[in-house]
Amino acid sequence: MTAVTTVPATLAVSAERTPVPTLLPTAIVGSLPKPAWLAKPEVLWSPWELEGDVLVEGQHDALRAAVQEQELRGIDIVSDGEQTRQHFVTTFIEHLDGVDFENRETVRIRDRYDASVPTVVGAVSRRKPVFVDGAAFLRSQTDRPIKWALPGPMTMIDTLADRHYRSREKLAWEFATILNQEARELEAAGVDIIQFDEPAFNVFFDEMKEWGVAALERAVEGLQAQTAVHICYGYGIKANTDWKATLGAEWRQYEESFPLLQRSSIDIVSLESHNSHVPIDLIELIRGKKVMLGAIDVASHEVETPEEVAATLRRALQFVDADKLIPSSNCGMAPLPRQVALDKLSALSAGAGLLREELTRASA
Ligand code: ZN
Repeated sequence: MTAVTTVPATLAVSAERTPVPTLLPTAIVGSLPKPAWLAKPEVLWSPWELEGDVLVEGQHDALRAAVQEQELRGIDIVSDGEQTRQHFVTTFIEHLDGVDFENRETVRIRDRYDASVPTVVGAVSRRKPVFVDGAAFLRSQTDRPIKWALPGPMTMIDTLADRHYRSREKLAWEFATILNQEARELEAAGVDIIQFDEPAFNVFFDEMKEWGVAALERAVEGLQAQTAVHICYGYGIKANTDWKATLGAEWRQYEESFPLLQRSSIDIVSLESHNSHVPIDLIELIRGKKVMLGAIDVASHEVETPEEVAATLRRALQFVDADKLIPSSNCGMAPLPRQVALDKLSALSAGAGLLREELTRASA
């Protein structure tokens, strides 16, 4: 046996970032399960198990682990796994002035389920950056391209109680301005892709057309980083799976948003595909955009095989050029058992790898 001294990869190549594979770079939509010592597993809005400085340290340790797992399991575009936030929308809202997050109200969100949410009680503003420290920390932990998710303006107003503006449009516009400030600082902190989560685009079509996409465009104004919008059918929780059961044999909701997004300045559209009833040819409606395609089902504990992942991706190739396809998950994985989610990361990259080989062989 020869002793080998190894230099950690991130140090060895610190001057240069690992290039993203040009073909089929993999990414996850957003959240990963948090470790059980940090937050109660398998629930949304899971309470923290730690507090104060120990909580901050724990969140950083969990983020480090999330990065390491993504890298080891072959995810090319790395995210924070949302290890430092309790929820993808309310955590951002709670950091704003004008919001009373101790006075929570129960409202119906996404027209589907009741949730306890913060209340807007005055003019909203961002007194300091919300996620910029977290993004800088993520940047320091990996040399791969990084993606950071923010809630979209329309999904934000659908995840709170408004006792001040009394106008969804007006409040969305205020949030868009605040999101733009945050996004510019995330970009300066080294974020390569800034993603806006807009599941509300799959529910409130009239508002989406009247002002939802315009508010999103306001949020990305002036950004040099790539921008993405994620529109989905939600986490794999019962309220969502029950709703999906009412949507019929074909889910054509994307037909409402895709033509508008095709004409927008957004670079990447993230959508559900695997195990869904979304007709795959709807992707044609966003021709020219990069497509983050969900090839991992977040509503099932069954881990996909690489062949299943490859088959889902292969079907999409009729409607999106291979150099614009980003294999991904359908949605966030926060409510899944941790090991299941991690194994799904491996399946995603193995499936993308199969198809990448196939495409490379075909073009050789
Ligand atoms: Zn989602």
